[in-house]
Amino acid sequence: MLLPCRHSAKLNDVVDYPPMPVGVEWDGIKIAYLDRDGVLNIGSKNYINSISELIVFPDAGDTIAEIRKNGYRICIVTNQSPIGRGNWDHDNLAKIHDELKSELLLQNSDAHLDLILYSPYAPWENSWARKGNPGMLQVGRQILTNDTNEPIRQFNFGPDYIPSSKGSSFMVGDRDVDIEAGIRFGIRSFYCDPRVGISDVLSRLLDVSDIGDELL
Ligand SMILES: [Mg+2]
Repeated sequence: MLLPCRHSAKLNDVVDYPPMPVGVEWDGIKIAYLDRDGVLNIGSKNYINSISELIVFPDAGDTIAEIRKNGYRICIVTNQSPIGRGNWDHDNLAKIHDELKSELLLQNSDAHLDLILYSPYAPWENSWARKGNPGMLQVGRQILTNDTNEPIRQFNFGPDYIPSSKGSSFMVGDRDVDIEAGIRFGIRSFYCDPRVGISDVLSRLLDVSDIGDELL
């Protein structure tokens, strides 16, 4: 089973939650699933291969903080096929993600990324973790909502798992595979303009007035 990988931890480690903004409580359900390139930083069709190629959108930190102030945990779900293609390794990606995290926190001290998941597989490996499959969202949900203090022994991972209660969780991405993964997971899914990033859709993400009872 080609499970996703997790930044700076084993996949099933119990999550070490960063603090929510002052005065905000997490309801244990609401998760903002975010693609990375074209959402938090400028994307490239040749991938982001090093820290020197990472250009974080200047308002990404404030936007992440605003989402968290509205009671969401953040779960990054990013396809990283250069690892499976043999271009570079997990350690290289870890450096990029460490840099992304610290730049966001420099922009806004509430802009924590609660969990970063990535699919290292090449397209021809047909992993369920690779978007537009919803596997990374499935695993992210189980890690973030694991309140047992015990590592998860076996993930629900496959087409039969759609959690019943997802609150007003949502997915944001700049490509069809992102939207496909979100819809197949059963959550609201939004395209953002890759020239603008996540702030492009902030007001729509937080407008839950049109969500039906079945989603709440
Ligand atoms: Mg993208």
